Amino acid sequence: MSFPLHRPRRLRVSEKIRGLVRENRLTTAGMIYPMFVCPGTKVRNEVSSMPGVYQQSADQIVEECREVEALGIPGVILFGLPETKDPEGKSSLAADGVVQRAIEGIKKAKLDLLVITDVCLCEYTDHGHCGLLDHDRIVNDATLEILSEQALSHARAGADLVAPSDMMDGRVGAIRAKLDKNKFENVAIMAYSAKYCSGFYGPFREAAQSAPQFGDRRSYQMDPANAREALKEVRMDLEEGADIVMVKPALAYLDVIRCVRDEVDVPVAAYNVSGEYSMVKAAASKGWIDEKRIVMEILTGIQRAGAEIILTYHAKDVARWLK
Ligand SMILES: [Zn+2]
Repeated sequence: MSFPLHRPRRLRVSEKIRGLVRENRLTTAGMIYPMFVCPGTKVRNEVSSMPGVYQQSADQIVEECREVEALGIPGVILFGLPETKDPEGKSSLAADGVVQRAIEGIKKAKLDLLVITDVCLCEYTDHGHCGLLDHDRIVNDATLEILSEQALSHARAGADLVAPSDMMDGRVGAIRAKLDKNKFENVAIMAYSAKYCSGFYGPFREAAQSAPQFGDRRSYQMDPANAREALKEVRMDLEEGADIVMVKPALAYLDVIRCVRDEVDVPVAAYNVSGEYSMVKAAASKGWIDEKRIVMEILTGIQRAGAEIILTYHAKDVARWLK
């Protein structure tokens, strides 16, 4: 017998055979495109640290959603930049709030898109924290009621899924109970279950104008050093009724995505966050990397790690590249 018997290179000799044996195929079917809604009409401001991403009024969101639908991306997730902020984030509950109006616009345009909403307080509170304050402490249980009301308000406007990102304990259960009580039992919950306190959110805070005005989010978001704890958070969210669990960020947490995928039997999502996007865009603009190749490699890596759903600002570009 000649040596070597096994020659893995046999399966790499042509694109045809490489395609045949490929283990992961990136498609737009699992992608969600994040969008930022601001007040007004005909507003469209590019986020300086996130080229290609805009803060836009509801009418412009609907226009971009037409493009998203035509590209075959199944859904969008909406973040709100409200007209006014207050200590309790009350503007997040307004029936004519920015997110609510954008949802209604998308639904009225009869676009075949899943509309997911981010449920949190940080974009709506004047202090920029994700929960209510008692002096300088972020209180947990009192925050659950306003979060559930916000989720209900999004459901009333027509949201298909709500995605709580606040990391308060017990919020998934509170939101599920509130939705069910109001006959929105078919609105699903995609929980930001393992959301880490990460430096990769920097550009998002400019986009969503949601930087905390004092302190940081370490008392509610997870410590980047912990992986086992992610499983605990995921299990708790599932016990409380989460339909989909999410790991955020993605790139520095591929091991966590894999752990979660191996542990649970629900769909796993990963958020390819603003900082991950901005680093690629910045390096590409300098000509240091091949943007298309890098983006496809990153997203394939996130999928290979176990995420079936990827929230990514690259979604539209990927859809064009794959056509
Ligand atoms: Zn938040």
